[in-house]
Amino acid sequence: MAFTKRKGANPKYRTPEHRRYRAALVEQLNRQGYLMCTAKVCIFPTRHITNPNGRARDGLHAGHDDSGTSYDGPQHNACNVTDGAVRGRARRDSKQSTLRW
Ligand SMILES: [Zn+2]
Repeated sequence: MAFTKRKGANPKYRTPEHRRYRAALVEQLNRQGYLMCTAKVCIFPTRHITNPNGRARDGLHAGHDDSGTSYDGPQHNACNVTDGAVRGRARRDSKQSTLRW
């Protein structure tokens, strides 16, 4: 198995399961022409996802639930990243408060 190491990427996004899941979403998008964003808060005027390019702001991402172990479904890149950034900040803040001395 060939692993491509990308600096800065979360390890959970490098699993074969994640790649397979995302590939299935891309295939579905291509077949239907669009997918619906499942983010709790969608920042776009429409929940339709039409861009399979995950690097684009409105591109397709495979969204995780809060535990990070199962998938919420397709989400816009920006919606998914915004959600994750909020959770990451909350974790960092609680860690800092326990480290104060
Ligand atoms: Zn969205």
